[in-house]
Amino acid sequence: MTATEHPAANRTLGDRARDHLWLHFAQHGGYADSEIPVITRGEGPYVYDERGKRYFDGLAGLFAVQVGHGREELAEAAARQTKQLAYFPLWSHAHPGAVELAERIAAQAPGDLNRVFFTSGGGEAVETAWKLAKQYFRKTGKPGKHKVISRSLAYHGTSQGALSITGIPGAKQDFEPLVPSAIKVPNTNFYRAPVFADDYEAFGVWAAEEIGRAIEREGADTVAAVFLEPLQNTGGCFPPPPGYWQRVREICTEHDVLLVSDEVICAYGRLGHDFGANRYGYQPDIITVAKGLTSGYAPLGAMIADERLMAPFLSGDSSFTHGSTYGGHPVACAVAMANLDLLESEDLYGQVRANEANFRATLDKLLDLPIVGDVRGAGYFYGIELVKDAATKETFTAADAERVLQGFVSPALFEAGLYCRADDRAEPVIQLAPPLICTQDHFDEVEQILRSVLTEACTKL
Ligand code: PLP
Repeated sequence: MTATEHPAANRTLGDRARDHLWLHFAQHGGYADSEIPVITRGEGPYVYDERGKRYFDGLAGLFAVQVGHGREELAEAAARQTKQLAYFPLWSHAHPGAVELAERIAAQAPGDLNRVFFTSGGGEAVETAWKLAKQYFRKTGKPGKHKVISRSLAYHGTSQGALSITGIPGAKQDFEPLVPSAIKVPNTNFYRAPVFADDYEAFGVWAAEEIGRAIEREGADTVAAVFLEPLQNTGGCFPPPPGYWQRVREICTEHDVLLVSDEVICAYGRLGHDFGANRYGYQPDIITVAKGLTSGYAPLGAMIADERLMAPFLSGDSSFTHGSTYGGHPVACAVAMANLDLLESEDLYGQVRANEANFRATLDKLLDLPIVGDVRGAGYFYGIELVKDAATKETFTAADAERVLQGFVSPALFEAGLYCRADDRAEPVIQLAPPLICTQDHFDEVEQILRSVLTEACTKL
């Protein structure tokens, strides 16, 4: 039955979207008197709405569209595979695309991360990693190891396991009780460091040691895994201080705890490398990926596990009792192969490395605005923290954040032609993660839009 009394004819999609479509993480009340924005097409780093208005895609969709929009190569790969074999599951059978993609991922992944378990997305890969950690320890004589440690504010997905690992209180509270045994430790927000505020390296050691202290408090024989992003997204891009990852690796090894590098955002070029672990030079036991693996052209994720983690499942009647219908979908695997071809042939990782200092320098210009407290990140991945007073780092009250950030900055940026994210799940930040094809002209375009909107925002404080 149709909910609307109004016929579809003569109504915009943005109007009709309000009738039946339930948006993710959206305040639908905000659309009571206005249309929902509808994006109809994309080309390069730009997307277009149903009226043909152009926006710079400052978030690569949702940290996904590495190679930019409208790439024929990926559309053709999907079409070819759909004609050849549109669907077959990975339940006790394989298909060529999954075999070849697993080979390719394993060849790129650091160390002995040679075993690839495909999923439909990032949260499912995280969920898979926790389940594997539990079952692996059961099978290897340490059945008590089941808890996980992750960082305050970090986002790892929304299914109940992944949400338990997620460290954003507001995303969790309505779903408690969640999966027990998910412990939180401090993140690496140096701008608001609670200790060693003038010594980045010492702060990093402290943050790493907090993981060790949490493991010891819980009992190492109960802790299965630590989940960390190479560079944490939520909160506004917290890079790892020098030495942080190396110390975390040592702590995990010391306590026989699996180190999971959640690279759903950071892999496939976001930080100028295939994997964030390779950028920062550490060896995880598991890497989780999604998003950039297909540049978002098809839903696909993967858990890439160390060889030894599959060993208990390779003989007798043993199996990892986990799977899904669409994990490793043939069309998504074909798209991923074509996407990896593009990332390589266009040397997009190299382009990010070559341009990141200029991107950073362009955004740093905004620090002359009193509302801009901090610019941080790496590669093509930045957070700009907005503050009430840059000198004291005083943050906004909840009411100001709602009024200035959600009420003005967010809609004004979109209106000015910049799609990005104004996030106030912690301190208010603007998040930027554009497609990897962007160059200086695009950085300038972003800076100019931000400058004009943030200058006006200053007058509203
Ligand atoms: N892990 C990280 C680090 C993420 O950033 C995300 C999503 O943004 C997820 C997991 C969840 O991925 P998905 O939305 O594909 O389930």
